[in-house]
Amino acid sequence: MSLQTLHFDFSGQRRDIEGDVKMESNWDATRKGLIACAVVWLLAACSFIVPFIGWTAPFVLFALGPIAGLVTFFMDRHEVKQVETHAVCPECSTSFGITEKNFKPPFYGACPSCRMSYRVDL
Ligand SMILES: [Zn+2]
Repeated sequence: MSLQTLHFDFSGQRRDIEGDVKMESNWDATRKGLIACAVVWLLAACSFIVPFIGWTAPFVLFALGPIAGLVTFFMDRHEVKQVETHAVCPECSTSFGITEKNFKPPFYGACPSCRMSYRVDL
């Protein structure tokens, strides 16, 4: 976790608030990509026993495995693992904690007491 400035937008009112941010590392994204490739290759191995599609499906799925791994890697590498911070609502002055996991910026939420919506950018 590293302290980082988060840009809050409370329906047009901008605030900069410090928060703990943990980004997805390249190793995490690589691991997810390898798992996706392995799952597709497992499907390829299992499709050998299915009548009729067993002639072509294993070869197609074997070729699609690395593509699935690369797509998963590139989609996950800029993902935010976790954000923890506290914010004060400009409308009702309520202080509330925010914990968000596994998302791509920005993320949206609402004040728990007055339901004023906000948007958070990193
Ligand atoms: Zn509020």
